[in-house]
Amino acid sequence: MTTIAFIGLGHMGGPMAANLVKAGHEVLGFDLVPAALEQAAASGVQVVSSGAEAAAAADVVITMLPAGKHVLSAYEGSEEAPGLLAAAKPNTLFIDSSTIAVDEARDVAATAVAAGHRALDAPVSGGVVGAEAGTLAFMVGGEDADFNEAFPLLEVMGGRIVHCGGAGLGQAAKVCNNMVLAVSQIAVAEAFVLGEQLGLTHKALYDVVANASGQCWAITTNCPVPGPVPTSPANRDYEPGFAGFLMNKDLGLAEQAISSTGVDAKMGMLARSIYAEYAAGEGAHRDFSGIINTIRENSRA
Ligand code: NAD
Repeated sequence: MTTIAFIGLGHMGGPMAANLVKAGHEVLGFDLVPAALEQAAASGVQVVSSGAEAAAAADVVITMLPAGKHVLSAYEGSEEAPGLLAAAKPNTLFIDSSTIAVDEARDVAATAVAAGHRALDAPVSGGVVGAEAGTLAFMVGGEDADFNEAFPLLEVMGGRIVHCGGAGLGQAAKVCNNMVLAVSQIAVAEAFVLGEQLGLTHKALYDVVANASGQCWAITTNCPVPGPVPTSPANRDYEPGFAGFLMNKDLGLAEQAISSTGVDAKMGMLARSIYAEYAAGEGAHRDFSGIINTIRENSRA
């Protein structure tokens, strides 16, 4: 049994912490929002009154926070409220599962190491459904020994766990994957709208592409038209799934990585602008495959 401080008990953190409790670990949880604390307490998390209180008693500190600035400020604290790093026992293992920029993840890890601790970036994919089912995919950056120590805990919350390399490389893998996903979802949506205009049925196009060289997750699992894949969000009016605002957030992180590396990623940058527009409207809380409706609306009738 490990004593775990779990900071950030929202949509993802709540069920992840609950799965650690179910596996027999002692989980001390903290969130700024009372409703999140109540829900966590109901699933067996021991709610405490600050992140520092949780970290002081823990062997491992897991953060699941909205963005990089929240992670850094929770780690560092302020004059009034000590941060997680100051409160934790020396050499504590810090695992940040929030989705943040690669450069931010490297800063976060360096700050933890400078404070005498160990750090992994371990962002996830799989959404709330994966968090509840304990089937998240973890992409991990950090030292081998720390990855091996974290593995049994990640295994409780996840299905597929990949050690991607040193600090920040978990976030790097996530940003690259989601850039592929965004580009491929747009390409599949464009193909369906083009097929409609050319007189193809959705079924015919699906049967060809899903079994040919255009095959990808964006069609075989997240098919943007209702019918061919009954479980895809298109069959429930694009209820997410993976909401447009989250895809837009991840593409913002991709844009940061593209600009800091200078890579000629034209498709990624175009996807970034397409989803920024989508997320500025109703698409924010619709599945990102609903981009097909925007493409239809923008097409010449
Ligand atoms: P969320 O907003 O539901 O949860 C974040 C929680 O952090 C909130 O409850 C908030 O009150 C809390 N918080 C913020 N600052 C805090 C602090 N200083 N101390 C304690 N608690 C604090 O967000 P989420 O959907 O759970 O996402 C969490 C992270 O996971 C994000 O980085 C997101 O990009 C990533 N992610 C989300 C999904 C998804 O489908 N929701 C999928 C993959 C990755």
